[in-house]
Amino acid sequence: MNISINSVKQSRIEQVDFTNLPFGKVFSDHMLVADYALGKWSDPKILPFGKFEISPSMTALHHGQSIFEGMKAYWGKSDKPLLFRPKDNFRRLNLSANRMCMPEIDELLFMEGLMTLVKLDQNWIPKTEGNSLYIRPIYFSNDEVIGIKPADNYRLIIFTCPTSAYYSDPLRVKIETRYVRGSHGGVGFAKAAGNYGGAMLPTKLANDQGFHQLLWTDAYNHEYLEESGSMNVMFLINNTLVTPSLSESKLAGITRDSVLTIAKEWGMNVEDRPVSVLELIEAAKNGSLQEAFGTGTAANLAPIKTIGHADKFYDLPDLKPDSFINRMSKYLMDLKTGVLEDHHNWIVEVN
Ligand SMILES: *Cc1c(COP(=O)(O)O)cnc(C)c1O
Repeated sequence: MNISINSVKQSRIEQVDFTNLPFGKVFSDHMLVADYALGKWSDPKILPFGKFEISPSMTALHHGQSIFEGMKAYWGKSDKPLLFRPKDNFRRLNLSANRMCMPEIDELLFMEGLMTLVKLDQNWIPKTEGNSLYIRPIYFSNDEVIGIKPADNYRLIIFTCPTSAYYSDPLRVKIETRYVRGSHGGVGFAKAAGNYGGAMLPTKLANDQGFHQLLWTDAYNHEYLEESGSMNVMFLINNTLVTPSLSESKLAGITRDSVLTIAKEWGMNVEDRPVSVLELIEAAKNGSLQEAFGTGTAANLAPIKTIGHADKFYDLPDLKPDSFINRMSKYLMDLKTGVLEDHHNWIVEVN
């Protein structure tokens, strides 16, 4: 495989204020583009980040064969870029692709393309603590025909954004008991574009009521908790880490898996099982709910301060410096930046 590189004549990096990086608004110099046509992938190309032409009949726009991923590169202690569990993102991208009836992406194309892109734009990885380079692979159908059928042409693009922490304030979340995000047999486990479009109205309605995010519940009786906007959720109840078990309707977060793995290594009680709304509200009422948080690549661990349910509000205690959330956030950051030894084989160094 040959990756051609058409680099920018003049980098834009001097124009960027690295002390003020709003999420997803600042883009690094280059992007990787690979096309699928006539049953096979072309060699990827690296180009200056920028616009490209599409046809009004482009299939992804009409029928939504469009999926994405999200991962991060950190500036490592060894003075090299470090990727956190990129092969898990690659596997999940192909899981989403399968569900959306899109061709699988070659591992070599994805991994080599990703590494070459991150190395080329490595100066865009913020070196300040807590900040990182967010990596967005996007994969969509690109036929120019208005027929509802799996497309013949596809495009994969990977681009990157230097970014600081995602949420600043502790979250107010609303338990959603009217709208649904995913169901058995659906596409909830895929990072499919339409999942996020469908979530916008219910999220907007919650925003209007003063909430940052939703806590989705199951599609059948709204009895069991699912996950949050772009995060899985976890609760510390009586010193046990409790999280809703995965299903076809939930996105299997890599952060979720990392937190559960480390918590078990720490010797904690971890319960990966159905969690009912009733149980959570009871725990909030009787004080056994110590901590609640979302987990995701963009947000890392996002503490939840208030849970809204049936017009009532349940506040969590303020976080102490040695809270589980604080200890786990620090541990994960130290792992991702190479301060701690990587005995899980999660880190991939970009050379
Ligand atoms: C991306 C995402 C997550 C978190 O996944 P990570 O791999 O931890 O980033 C959780 N839920 C939804 C709906 C998501 O889109």
